[in-house]
Amino acid sequence: MQIAKLPRVQLASLPTPLQPMPRLTEELGGPQLYIKRDDLTGLAFGGNKLRKLEFLLGDACAKNADIILSGVQGFQSNHLCQTAAAAKKLGMDVLLIKTGPHDDYEPAEYDGNHLLQYMLGAEIRVYHPEHAPQLEDIARELKDQGRTPYIISQAGSTPIGTIGYANTIRELLEQTTRMRMHVDYIIHATGSGGTQAGLVLGAKALNTGIKILGVSVTDPSRTATSIQRVATLAVSAAELLDIPLTLEVNDVRILDDYAQQGYGAVDKNKILAIQLLAQTEGIFVDPVYSGTAMAGLIDLIHKGYLTKEHRVIFLHTGGNAALFPYRNPITSFLKKNQPSWMTPPWSA
Ligand SMILES: *Cc1c(COP(=O)(O)O)cnc(C)c1O
Repeated sequence: MQIAKLPRVQLASLPTPLQPMPRLTEELGGPQLYIKRDDLTGLAFGGNKLRKLEFLLGDACAKNADIILSGVQGFQSNHLCQTAAAAKKLGMDVLLIKTGPHDDYEPAEYDGNHLLQYMLGAEIRVYHPEHAPQLEDIARELKDQGRTPYIISQAGSTPIGTIGYANTIRELLEQTTRMRMHVDYIIHATGSGGTQAGLVLGAKALNTGIKILGVSVTDPSRTATSIQRVATLAVSAAELLDIPLTLEVNDVRILDDYAQQGYGAVDKNKILAIQLLAQTEGIFVDPVYSGTAMAGLIDLIHKGYLTKEHRVIFLHTGGNAALFPYRNPITSFLKKNQPSWMTPPWSA
């Protein structure tokens, strides 16, 4: 792979740890479970977006950008929080475009990623999704003011951002080789698709035989589009690296049973999964992303799809800052078996 030739800035603490999960393995009675700690990438509570941002902001620096313009993402976006932290670390300004229940939405209390974005000094604009402006139009205004904006859309799931996760497979192989460990599956939360596309590309290009299982964080009506997007991203990232990539139908697998109520909704299985991981391994995940993937992993073991013969790596993609805004439904579920709400008040 030609990764070394691409512009890149150093943002993440790499390699992230690869750890066994002996108590969760025993509790579930299925495959040997490991966790790859991309929640520990470093900046602003860590997470998967920093790997994409190393290449995206490398490109931004190469183009002499002085302001990062990113969106349009949800109100509690992890991506926007990490983007703001990374931009600040590089001495750049940052403008975040987000959606909320209405234009200029202001929560009574700042919490989770919104609080962090605000404290990072990002300029934040909130719109109802139907009124969200085009990033290109805002970029034009910024240029008129003499600025040099760099746009990051799709939560960094562009061919350049995808390279970050192709590289992760190489990092992981160094770890598993040292541990003399064979890996059958990697399972992780999939949203805008760049993480999965990079993993699929890396796993194929390096001939690993590892199967990538993406757990969708949105309702099943979007699965076909997501599969298409992951495949297209993997192929275009491969072209950037000048490597041939031929995908077969089964290379992009997205499981969509675990966020049936839609993006960001809470449900019993997610809360129980979060609690189980915390109580066996002392590791937290959030209800939007990694908690959904953990609910998927637990279910695949219960269904016998993943068995004692398999070795499975759970990729913790981060997102922990989003746990706290969910304090009410989590507490009321744990105390009264009934979440106080399903759909977050900040969602559109
Ligand atoms: C964005 C995000 C994902 C999904 O990654 P994509 O590349 O958008 O598919 C998973 N987990 C967390 C915590 C995220 O913030």
